[in-house]
Amino acid sequence: METSRFVAGVPVDVTTGQIPVQRLLCPNAGVMTGPGTNSYLIGHQELALVDPGPAMPVHTQAIMQALGGRPLKWIFVTHTHGDHSPGTPALQALTGAQLIGLAPHADAQYQDRSFVPDRLYGHDEQILCDGFSIRLIHTPGHVSNHLCFLLEEDGMLFTGDHILQGTTPVILPPDGNMSDYMKSLEDLRHLPLRALAPGHGEVMLEPEQMISTLIRHRQRRELKIVAALTTLKSCILDELVLLAYDDVPSHLLPWAKKTLLAHLYKLRDEGRARLLAPAPTSAGEKADIETSIWEVL
Ligand SMILES: [Zn+2]
Repeated sequence: METSRFVAGVPVDVTTGQIPVQRLLCPNAGVMTGPGTNSYLIGHQELALVDPGPAMPVHTQAIMQALGGRPLKWIFVTHTHGDHSPGTPALQALTGAQLIGLAPHADAQYQDRSFVPDRLYGHDEQILCDGFSIRLIHTPGHVSNHLCFLLEEDGMLFTGDHILQGTTPVILPPDGNMSDYMKSLEDLRHLPLRALAPGHGEVMLEPEQMISTLIRHRQRRELKIVAALTTLKSCILDELVLLAYDDVPSHLLPWAKKTLLAHLYKLRDEGRARLLAPAPTSAGEKADIETSIWEVL
């Protein structure tokens, strides 16, 4: 197996078992996308693809080239953020593949609203493909419509942004939810996993260890947030993030603030923190969460 090369547009074999899996990196590297978005091609003859990526013709062309004339029958989409799903219509138009995923929640922010799956599948449903099967695992948390896909023959889980390599996912409230995220991580422990194929970064071969590390990371962060709230007594997000995320580079703090808010909502729901009713900014205007005061209980 070769997983060390990150060159956009060049297929890399990331097979870990019987079913061929190729990773195709999209040239959209950045702060939130790391080396770029991974698209995965699965199968021998009739192929499946996980995450078409953003609407970038160069990436769609690279996928078509990697197909090498073989039919693409299934497009699986982990979630509808701009770096994962907007490339779908172009690819579907070229291949006629069936589209599998969950449409975004009506209130969700930063979502690809053009996304409409061909058929609604539910959690734990199995889709029989050409010599392999994919099981849908609903993993709300990063966003509410997040799915992971289990390649059952090889125990390889395509994790989208639920589990990343080299970094931790941002949880985006209110559609993203920290309690859901923790539960979704715990639920993965019951699956027969042998490899994790993330939406960004390298394939990981020790799934149990990775999942445990992520759960511990979130638990430690929660403890740190409670300690920071105790120290500051009452504070706004901007004050709290500096103390609770003092190990995070300053350019990532705007994103850390979103995950911090997800942690705070979880603490509030558990009766461990409270959000003081903020003063309205002007008549009829919604109070701003940025200026809201948080306290530990
Ligand atoms: Zn995402």
